[in-house]
Amino acid sequence: MAKYKIGVLYGDGIGPEITKATVEVLTAAAERYKNTELEFVDLPMGWVGIEEHGDPMPQYTKDALKETHGWIMGPHDSAAYPAEHKANRNPSGELRHSFDLYSNVRPAKTMPGIESVAGEADLVIFRENTEGYYCDRNMFVGVGEWHVTPDVVISSGVFTRQAIERIAHEAFRMAMKRRKKVTIVHKANVIKLGMGLFLNVCREVAQQYPEVTVDDYHIDAMAAHLVRRIKDFDVIVTENMYGDILSDLTGELVGSLGLAPSINTNDNLAMAQAAHGSAPDIAGKNIANPMGIMFSTVMFLDWLSARHDDPEVFQLARHMESSIMATVAEGICTRDLGGSASTNEFAAAIVERTKRTYQEV
Ligand code: NAD
Repeated sequence: MAKYKIGVLYGDGIGPEITKATVEVLTAAAERYKNTELEFVDLPMGWVGIEEHGDPMPQYTKDALKETHGWIMGPHDSAAYPAEHKANRNPSGELRHSFDLYSNVRPAKTMPGIESVAGEADLVIFRENTEGYYCDRNMFVGVGEWHVTPDVVISSGVFTRQAIERIAHEAFRMAMKRRKKVTIVHKANVIKLGMGLFLNVCREVAQQYPEVTVDDYHIDAMAAHLVRRIKDFDVIVTENMYGDILSDLTGELVGSLGLAPSINTNDNLAMAQAAHGSAPDIAGKNIANPMGIMFSTVMFLDWLSARHDDPEVFQLARHMESSIMATVAEGICTRDLGGSASTNEFAAAIVERTKRTYQEV
């Protein structure tokens, strides 16, 4: 019997609604896998963290996460926190930084029952997750911005060979399992040193993967290419902020930002986290799409299965994934995808399908 301890951070805004739906679906799917035991550990973050511990990412939570095999994280509403908390890294930035979760993997794939405004797509963005233009990640102490005069601010970008090499290797390893094609996205024509290093180091790493075809685009042109011909792209590697922006675009192009998943990893830990934020405009209305965080959890299970060499968890991942897809294919979805199901109704329909789609391991 393999036992996995999974942290659950519900977060702010729509976070509690979509995270609860995800845990329900995972619990239902896991029910029949007798050699796998999942233990969920609820941990405070966001507004609950502020109320209970005076911190949106309490030390208590970080300490508890060290004892887990990984965790599912709902979105935070950091833009709404009181000024003293805004001065620090936001909760997900804090976890990415303190656990060195250097690889943020963000797939975008068309699926039956969901209209894609850009046609067929199946790509994966590898976003460097620890430095680049996310200035609060760049510093050992401080937030990487300087208020020089009331009207002058300097914000830092940091690019290091070590960080670029490891995300590039992640991207190329994935490319070897897919269409053997990597696209490097940068802005080396203007940010000559920082993005120049990013491009050059990615190209150096590429030489270790001679079977992989490599091309590169400037970030602005890449946005246009994705809209025009998304199907031509397979694995994309880019820096922190460009990856964040491009993945919102690709999520929306294949259906909705609400279904865009992601996983943050290092070699020992993983954090499942939808690409979107806390969606304050629809929070508390029971209409949010939980697919982003659900598919992030499927990615987490895949990572867990590979990390612990556990084929039953791989099977569980397929079971959860096919249950979600079967539900959508039957026309049941939330309103961002043109459906009428509430978050709860959608989750209940998936739970129902976990019983139908079960296959013997
Ligand atoms: P957002 O992603 O929360 O919302 C953008 C738009 O997409 C909104 O119209 C929203 O209703 C919609 N949307 C997002 N997720 C959806 C879902 N699951 N289902 C249906 N519609 C969905 O971006 P924002 O408005 O820029 O940010 C709101 C807050 O979220 C801010 O405080 C921001 O700092 C925070 N944020 C957190 C994360 C994170 O936790 N990783 C990421 C991005 C933004």
